[in-house]
Amino acid sequence: MSQNFSTVDTSSDPKIIWKECLNIIRENVPFLTYNTWFLPIKPYELDNFNLKISVPNDYFVEWIEEHFNTLLNKTIKQVLGEEGRITYIISEDDDEPIINITQTIPEKSPSIQSAETKEEKFETNLNPKYLFENFIKGEGNQLARAAAYAVSENPGQTSFNPLFIYGGVGLGKTHLIHAIGNKILEKDPSKKVIYLSTDVFTVEFVEAIQSNSVNDFSNYYKSMDTLIIDDIQFLIGKERTQDYFFHIFNTLHQSGRQIILSSDKPPKELKGLNERLISRFQWGLTTDIQPPDFETRIAILKNKSETFGIKLTPDILEYIATNIVSNIRELEGCLIKLLANASLNGRKIDLELARKTVKEISSSKKINISIDYITKVVCEYFDLDENKLREKTRKKEIVEARQIAMYLSKELTKSSLKTIGLHFGGRDHSTVLHAHKAVETGLNEDIKLKECISSIKNSLEMGAS
Ligand code: ADP
Ligand code: MG
Repeated sequence: MSQNFSTVDTSSDPKIIWKECLNIIRENVPFLTYNTWFLPIKPYELDNFNLKISVPNDYFVEWIEEHFNTLLNKTIKQVLGEEGRITYIISEDDDEPIINITQTIPEKSPSIQSAETKEEKFETNLNPKYLFENFIKGEGNQLARAAAYAVSENPGQTSFNPLFIYGGVGLGKTHLIHAIGNKILEKDPSKKVIYLSTDVFTVEFVEAIQSNSVNDFSNYYKSMDTLIIDDIQFLIGKERTQDYFFHIFNTLHQSGRQIILSSDKPPKELKGLNERLISRFQWGLTTDIQPPDFETRIAILKNKSETFGIKLTPDILEYIATNIVSNIRELEGCLIKLLANASLNGRKIDLELARKTVKEISSSKKINISIDYITKVVCEYFDLDENKLREKTRKKEIVEARQIAMYLSKELTKSSLKTIGLHFGGRDHSTVLHAHKAVETGLNEDIKLKECISSIKNSLEMGAS
């Protein structure tokens, strides 16, 4: 098994290559295992050094991956040389007889056929306005942009699969992942590229359950060449959707199709997401987008104002870029408001109007905060380590801080009790509800608690984006 030399010409028939593999596999696994797991596999295509094999379903792939990955890798390398690899194609046709190596392979795999029957429904959901051409490069997004570009040039063919882009709100994640999709289609309009927010994916899944069409739902997404899913953090707490997404992910990944994901946090920090998904998210490339630096903010403002047909003077550009720092969506918002203020009041755009606009924006800023941010601020207030809130400890001061953090999470975010519980060491929803009640009752009688909550709320608002 350890020799690595090519014994077969790679232009050969996939059937011959697979037969060669089976000869090796047979020597290395028990008879029953061989019959159960390897006989049902059919060779499908040999693409350079990539042998595509067709397997009955994704559970099959999972099992093989988990138990025979090393064996298969070694075997294919022994047969095709160092570059040899195996990818899977799912063939869900149950009526087909179990393998006959000499049997002719169907022209198209069933998964490709099922894609075609849905053709008329196909909608990419891509926004044609989000392009690489109008995505301004800066230090904070340079790596993410480069990775995104590489993926768009060779979807599924780089090691950046999945490509996982994370970062705070309004920093350009959605823009960038649309840009990848648009670029792929520009190069090859026949590609099936689909963009979805996690929310839409979840809603469709629930509808599919209700209408008994979960298989159609899965097969549809499994037939894509590129699957782009935005804000994957919203899968947290949705176990069944996670399960189905997991299978879709596997099918696409195994057959060399591209998956692109965005999130507000890196995979490891997606508490409450199934571990097997987190580990798969880390298979490819994880890259972040940081808030734009001053120069990038100026460049973005310049560029956007030009698309509106106006040229802002350097003092106005600088003023806005100095005062609006947290994200690009807000920079855009400021610019639009500035234009609106100018045209509504028939005023010239000058520094004074820019000042007024920035001030209006800052005072109307809605707080937009996450459970993690609340945890951070509460722990700063009590001078505690954040991990303590997630531990099982019943120490009085920690219980109190945890309850306050849970209370504020319920009050200030839209998260469900379940999600809140998950953020605090996997506690269940009734614990969160109990904490909320305890603090609420306390607020009626305890002045100190009142002061404490109001002071934490102040810090939250000051630091919120
Ligand atoms: P996110 O998905 O990270 O919350 P978006 O992609 O929705 O952020 O970006 C918010 C707005 O800012 C969008 O209108 C987007 O076009 C714009 N934007 C973000 N980054 C850039 C950039 N680097 N260059 C130009 N526009 C950008
Ligand atoms: Mg977004």
